[in-house]
Amino acid sequence: MADANPSAATPTATKCARCEKTLTEGDRVAANDRVFCRSCYEVLKFELTRTVASMSENINYPMAVLGAVLGGVVGAGAWWGFTVLTKIGFGLVAVAIGFLVGHGAARFAGGKRSVGLQVLAVAVGTLSFLVAAYLVNMTFINEALAQRGEAWRVSVNFGVMKFVFLAIVVYEAWIIPRPVKLTLPS
Ligand SMILES: [Zn+2]
Repeated sequence: MADANPSAATPTATKCARCEKTLTEGDRVAANDRVFCRSCYEVLKFELTRTVASMSENINYPMAVLGAVLGGVVGAGAWWGFTVLTKIGFGLVAVAIGFLVGHGAARFAGGKRSVGLQVLAVAVGTLSFLVAAYLVNMTFINEALAQRGEAWRVSVNFGVMKFVFLAIVVYEAWIIPRPVKLTLPS
């Protein structure tokens, strides 16, 4: 949205990238790789700040919950399905849960980002992971029992890695709907 002027100048230009006014020492603000006159910069900053703020406003939480749960179901289903089909407890597939839950919450809320969505995504992501982990675990235990193997060993091995993957799921669910932080020169 900063593309107010597509034919905009190079970073070293001495003209405002928005209104092409010739800039002076006291009347120039560098933002990213562009230079603006002060009044243009204030307009852009206001617009940008408002856009970013609106991303965390009027969040449709029921839809966000729906999106997060759908993401969790799809992610958990993918992991469990992968396990059942391949007989491999490929935990990395579980990471998809965090990705899908985070994006599900943000997208279904209308492309929003907020701390509330982060908390929601982490809660749903964790729950989805635990449900999926339980299903995967039961699949392996049943498998092991069927082969008269040692079910407890399967459980213990899985238990350790589970925390690693859960941590990744939580991290992704937290990062994806994180509000954008603006760092602008004043
Ligand atoms: Zn200007």
